[in-house]
Amino acid sequence: MTDKLMSTYKRLPVTFVRGQGAWLWDDDGKQYLDALSGIAVCSLGHANARVAQAICDQSRRLLHTSNIYGIANQEQLGEALCRVTAMDKAFFGNSGAEANEAAIKLARLYGHNKGIANPAIVVAEGSFHGRTLATLSATGNAKIQAGFEPLVSGFIRVPYNDIAAIERLTGNADIVAVLVEPIQGEGGINIPDDDYLDRIRTLCDQHDWLMMLDEIQTGMCRTGKWFAYQHSHSAPDVMSIAKALGNGMPIGACLARGQAAEALQPGSHGSTFCGNPLACAAALAVIGEMEGHDLANNATIKGERLVQGLKDALADCDLVSDIRGRGLMVGVELKRPCGELVQQALEQGLLINVTADKVIRLLPPLIITADETDRIVATLATLVKRKAD
Ligand SMILES: *Cc1c(COP(=O)(O)O)cnc(C)c1O
Repeated sequence: MTDKLMSTYKRLPVTFVRGQGAWLWDDDGKQYLDALSGIAVCSLGHANARVAQAICDQSRRLLHTSNIYGIANQEQLGEALCRVTAMDKAFFGNSGAEANEAAIKLARLYGHNKGIANPAIVVAEGSFHGRTLATLSATGNAKIQAGFEPLVSGFIRVPYNDIAAIERLTGNADIVAVLVEPIQGEGGINIPDDDYLDRIRTLCDQHDWLMMLDEIQTGMCRTGKWFAYQHSHSAPDVMSIAKALGNGMPIGACLARGQAAEALQPGSHGSTFCGNPLACAAALAVIGEMEGHDLANNATIKGERLVQGLKDALADCDLVSDIRGRGLMVGVELKRPCGELVQQALEQGLLINVTADKVIRLLPPLIITADETDRIVATLATLVKRKAD
């Protein structure tokens, strides 16, 4: 491998050259079952024909103009996203971090408009919001922040899934928003109590805070609904999405409703590439595919099969401390660190991920079949049991 790339990633010794559905092939022709989808990105699987066609057609017509002109695909995508959410307006960016940057800027502006000079946003321990300076400052992981101090100020951290910790902050007049993930992804597939989001909603209503959800990993049908907040009774004021939105085409969005949707005005935010015709064409095709094949429903069905299969196969395995998931966002927590399983699975032709040291994270494409699901279970159970021996 070349030494001409900055060492930002510790890479596994494999290079893929093509994919189809839930499968990838490396440069030696070896085949792999993808139970990670490029970390929740390729939810339609690889080489989806409709997305490929949309990208191909659009690239022959027009790649880029500028946001100083109208962009029809961006308008259609804004309409489509507001239709499948409770949101009123969209701002597009090119990544998850940019979607969160927009949300953070929006919250600060919302605060300043109310006369709050130093607006603060409540964020959670164990959270992940991105790698830009503001989003890594919002992130609840010291390893991600180390070396990049001084961090961006204006974030107040509380333990995740601890509503009392947020209640204790209600006297702080600087707070303008609460930003959490509906389920923490990088943090270890942490699923909060059923009423967590509803109770955040109540606190936000009582104190005129914005409820902001980072749905970058949980969104776009991953958990069995278009967005994970739809499992609760509460809609956020602001939400960020990205990852699966373009099925691999870089695109993110910050969506907002009500007064929050009016905060950003001409001159307050922008980016050259944001919402460009090509990325929006891909995202429109993704939404069409997800709706046309009811992939939210497939995520529910195959997610239950995956979790139940793993529970059955690993019932007697003492090394496993918990198996949990919602839709096709699944975590297998072990009692010991298990990073080596990633390489071992790779050798067996299975792509997985380990996060928070000891949680095996599974994010297979939403098009996965029952047979493919069972294959993930069989391979993974063998590896976990071997480690337990
Ligand atoms: C991946 C992720 C991000 C960052 O997205 P990028 O596209 O890598 O900038 C932010 N929040 C959550 C919850 C994520 O999973």
